[in-house]
Amino acid sequence: MMKRNKLMAILLCCVFVFGGCSEKREAAQQMLSKYSEKDLHEMTTFAMDTVMQFTIYNEDGEQLLIDAEQEIRRLERLFSVTMEDSEISQLNQQAGEGAVSLSKDTFQVLKRGKEIGELTNQAFDIAISPVVKAWGFTTGGEKHVPSLKTLESLLPLTNAKDLQLNEIDATAQLLKKGMAVDLGGIAKGYTSDAVTALLKEKGVVSGLFSLGGNISAIGRKPDGKKWKIAVENPLDANDYVGLLEVEDCSVITSGGYQRFFEENGKRYHHIIDSKTGYPADKGLLSVTIISKDGTKADGLSTALFVMGLEDAVRLWRNSHDFEAIFVTTEGKVIATEGAATFFTFEGRDNDFKFETVKREGGVS
Ligand code: AMP
Ligand code: MG
Repeated sequence: MMKRNKLMAILLCCVFVFGGCSEKREAAQQMLSKYSEKDLHEMTTFAMDTVMQFTIYNEDGEQLLIDAEQEIRRLERLFSVTMEDSEISQLNQQAGEGAVSLSKDTFQVLKRGKEIGELTNQAFDIAISPVVKAWGFTTGGEKHVPSLKTLESLLPLTNAKDLQLNEIDATAQLLKKGMAVDLGGIAKGYTSDAVTALLKEKGVVSGLFSLGGNISAIGRKPDGKKWKIAVENPLDANDYVGLLEVEDCSVITSGGYQRFFEENGKRYHHIIDSKTGYPADKGLLSVTIISKDGTKADGLSTALFVMGLEDAVRLWRNSHDFEAIFVTTEGKVIATEGAATFFTFEGRDNDFKFETVKREGGVS
């Protein structure tokens, strides 16, 4: 209970520290220091099927939070698979029958989704919807294990390569009847980038928000300290395995513990291995991605969970725009070399072991 309270305190009143020195940082500090608790504005809302919480420091905070909420609802109306008139629903209804015109945001999120698919050898697959639906995830109905025959018949329909995008006229087309897009693995990351851009444009220099656990930090806290964000213990929702100290980035976690059901005593979760059609089972309990690019962080957290540690580390070694924390089924908490510089491991009491992976290979 003690640790739970500590976790809530960390999430709700995250702290900031200035390190190093640069003119930019000094200017940022000057801007920050004019804010205090009286400029603190908070909001909790429910959208995109999840709870969203905002904390911002700004004299116009109240109006800015209304603007942020409107932006989220605008994107939800475009991306939702449950709203029949959303652009994504229209694209899905037209599968195999032709192209649909899209807004800039829907086109962009699909484009980013396809790119992350290519980067991860289709471990991330925005066309996974038919399989996700067969399991009963996203439909809101009963969840159950589909037959092997059902999965085998649906797998050929789940390949984002058969989602054609035409940049010139901003249209998209699902080439096969029965195909459908599911943005569940990327929409919140894209939305967090859009909200961050909107708030920054309106002058916000300090804020933190969580879109259903997908955290985005704007700047640092008014006292100049970095935000502290807990990485949850996937085995115990009241506990965490460590703390990240961050500024200006997104911290996004995917894990089988976040949504699942049980059938005949076995657990089945919502992150699907697009090669098999079954919940991904590659030795990971959770993957947390830290990146300035929230869309990528969201897509990659899902993809790296599907890929498993070895392939995930290989991808990280070839990339320079994200860091990661993995929690494995063997009880290890593994930080990439960069993440280890701003992560404090606190899982010892629960028998987790801590390791770091180096860019040049090797573990310590
Ligand atoms: P996240 O919580 O970001 O890891 O996203 C999980 C959600 O993404 C699921 O609820 C599905 O809607 C969708 N999803 C499941 N498996 C995949 C996959 N392999 N690639 C892309 N999206 C997926
Ligand atoms: Mg994701």
